[in-house]
Amino acid sequence: MKVIKIDKKDWVGGLEKSRSAYRLVGPFKENGKQFPVFKELDKGQEPDLTTLNTVISPKSIVFPQSEVMFEYTTDEKSEDCNLLKRPEKNYSPCAVIGIRPYDAAAFLLVQKNFDTPDYRDPYWCDAYEACTFIGMAINNPDNTDFSTSTKSGPFDESGLDVLLVDMKDHFLAKVITDKGDAYLKAAGWTAKVDTDAAIKQIDEMKNKAEVKIASKISFDNIEKKSIMELYEADFWEDVAFACINCGTCTYLCPTCWCFDIQDENHGKSGKRFKNWDGCMFPLFTHHSSGHNPRGIKVMRVRQRFMHKLKYFLDKYEDGIMCVGCGRCTRFCPVNIDIRNVCKLMNS
Ligand code: SF4
Ligand code: SF4
Repeated sequence: MKVIKIDKKDWVGGLEKSRSAYRLVGPFKENGKQFPVFKELDKGQEPDLTTLNTVISPKSIVFPQSEVMFEYTTDEKSEDCNLLKRPEKNYSPCAVIGIRPYDAAAFLLVQKNFDTPDYRDPYWCDAYEACTFIGMAINNPDNTDFSTSTKSGPFDESGLDVLLVDMKDHFLAKVITDKGDAYLKAAGWTAKVDTDAAIKQIDEMKNKAEVKIASKISFDNIEKKSIMELYEADFWEDVAFACINCGTCTYLCPTCWCFDIQDENHGKSGKRFKNWDGCMFPLFTHHSSGHNPRGIKVMRVRQRFMHKLKYFLDKYEDGIMCVGCGRCTRFCPVNIDIRNVCKLMNS
C-alpha cells in the first residue's frame, strides 16, 4: 500500500507527460454542449473534475453505443468473400481520469455478463483490459446517491487502480493496483507521503462523505422472496403508470448492458454492428413473427426492476445490478425512483 501526493500545480504537466504511454480519457465539456461526457482527450484538453458525475455514464469507454463487430463482402472477386473480418481498433493503454468510484465499480457488475468462463466478448474484454482507472473520490455526494447501500460508495476502490482524493491544494493518490502504480510513474507523480497518516486522512474523509448519504435501500427480503411472488405482485401497474418508455434510465445507467446486433449492407459489402438497446423499448423483444413477449408497458417496467433487483441477485449471489449512482432517478422525466421500487419489492 502506498499513497502519493500530487501538487495541483503538477497536475496538468503530469497528464501531458503520461501521454507518451497512454491515451487519456476523461469527462470533458465541448464548446456549446450543456454537459461533460467521457471522451478521449486531445492534447491540451484536461478532464473536468468539477462535475460530480456525467449525465451519460462512462460505460461507453468499454461498450460503445454503436460498435462495428465485423466487416464483410459477398463479392466473389474478393479474396475475403464471405469472411467476417474484425476491424482494427486501438486497444493501446488508456488512462481513464476522474471516473467516479461507483462508475468504475459498475464495470465489475457488467463484467459478469461479458467475461464469463463460458463466453468472452472480445470487444468488451479487450477495451476493458486496456484501461487503467484513476478515480476521483466523491467528497460531497448528491441526494440521489445511494451507493452505500449497493456494496459501492463514494470512496469505493473495487473498480479502481488509483483513488484520487481532493485535498484542496493537492491530491492524495492511493495506489490500489500495479496498473495504477505504473500510470502514476508515467505521469512523474512519485512523491510518497507517510502512508499511515495519509490513509487515516482518507478514511476520515470517506466516513464524512458516507454519512452525507441519507438514502438507504435494503434488499434482504427480496433475496428471500420467490421470483413468482415478486413477478405477480400487485404494485407493478402503479409503478409503470407514469412511465413513457423513453429508455433514458437504461441508456444512462452504468450497469445496463443490453444490446442489439444489426447488419447494414451497401451493395456487396456490409458491416455488422453491436448497438445499445434497452428493455424499456417495445421493439427490443419484438419477434419477426410479430409476437412480442413484453408487449405492454407494465411488462417492460417489471423486467427492468426484476432484472436489476431480483434475477441478477439470484444468479450471481453478489448483490443487485445497480451501484446507486442515482442517474435513473435524476433524469427520469416522470420521477420514477428505483429506491421506491426497491422498497416495494423488499416490503
Ligand atoms: S426514464 Fe422513466 S419514463 Fe423513461 S423509461 Fe425509464 S422509468 Fe420510464
Ligand atoms: S439503476 Fe439507476 S442508480 Fe442504479 S446504477 Fe443504474 S442508473 Fe445508477
